[in-house]
Amino acid sequence: MDVLKKCVDYSLARELRNESLYPYFRQIQSEQEPVVTIDGEKIIMLGSNNYLGLTSHPEVKEASAAAVLRYGTGCAGSRLLNGTLDIHVELEERLAAFMKVDAVLSFSTGYQVNLGVLSCLLGRHDTALLDQYDHASILDGVRLSFGRGLKFKHNDMKDLIGKLQQGNRSGGKLIVVDGVFSMEGDLANLPEIVAAKKQYDARLLVDDAHGLGVFGENGRGTAEHFGLEHEVDLTMGTFSKSLATVGGFIAGEAPVIEFIKHHARSQIFSAATPPGAAAAVIKALEIVEREPERRKRLWENTKFMKRELAGLGFDTGASESPVIPIAVGDDMTTFVMARRLHEEGVFANPIVAPAVPPGQAMIRTSYMATHERHHLEQALTALAKVGRELNVI
Ligand code: PMP
Repeated sequence: MDVLKKCVDYSLARELRNESLYPYFRQIQSEQEPVVTIDGEKIIMLGSNNYLGLTSHPEVKEASAAAVLRYGTGCAGSRLLNGTLDIHVELEERLAAFMKVDAVLSFSTGYQVNLGVLSCLLGRHDTALLDQYDHASILDGVRLSFGRGLKFKHNDMKDLIGKLQQGNRSGGKLIVVDGVFSMEGDLANLPEIVAAKKQYDARLLVDDAHGLGVFGENGRGTAEHFGLEHEVDLTMGTFSKSLATVGGFIAGEAPVIEFIKHHARSQIFSAATPPGAAAAVIKALEIVEREPERRKRLWENTKFMKRELAGLGFDTGASESPVIPIAVGDDMTTFVMARRLHEEGVFANPIVAPAVPPGQAMIRTSYMATHERHHLEQALTALAKVGRELNVI
């Protein structure tokens, strides 16, 4: 049996291309703004995680460019050996101060945070309790570990408690949830998860990729939103959404971060965050603190879209965040909807299994502080037209 036979047999991408329905790797010729350019044409972007609109902020770009001029384009090695710059340490200190935690360790991507942290924390007798809708990087991190992963039904606290009771008595338990679920846009039930964690002597890691900069009075995320920051043992965050670039971090108590720093293989055996990205995050944090009105505008846009989409008859599920899914159901209708939206001047992401359960395909829309009302109104006109055409509404 040829190990590469599966590649020759793989036909879905080709079939979608033949039908002009292939929705992936669309080439954008401009910045991640509310309006982007594709094939020379302007199109409204409803598919970006640039929640606060900072990827194109002049001060962020200038800080990043200045760091490239000063330190060069890369670190040519891992943080542990030759790759640590003074701005990496400054970034981690700034993040720790922002998050009001003891210590922070940064990684080159958010994906690597979950891989490295979970694989080094979960030993042979330990159990990770995972929401079934947790991000792929969490599932992959647990798979890489020697511990056991037990999935509980999405936000189902009875099921979580049942699974907590099943944990190995001699090992530890770590509950891992997305703060904001990346496709559904709903929130983890942190108050009840915290109560369960206490009752069963477990620890809690919250992946706040989509909560950071978005939720909480100061943008510290989902735990701040619920007033539960002291109850979360570890917070994972990414730089690839509100913080304008690429990279990620883990925040927690100093001894835990010290352990992770010397055991997380995805950090130790991979090159450091490039200087341009580190400097961009430092500047982005300054703007997050200085301009809370960005978060306010993001929420005005989010509430407007949630209300208008529901008014048109779209099913937006339990979304409570700037991630607003539109339920479609089958994969093919979802691909057609994405294609038609593109033709009508709207970029939105079709999401099919395994990113969501089979039969629950959706169009994932997401919003930015920098969308203006006329962008959103234009998008709604297109959504209404295509939604009716395809009997989604
Ligand atoms: N966790 C969640 C919930 C995410 O949505 C993502 C990115 N889609 C990641 C982790 C990985 O982050 P990054 O893009 O920084 O690798």
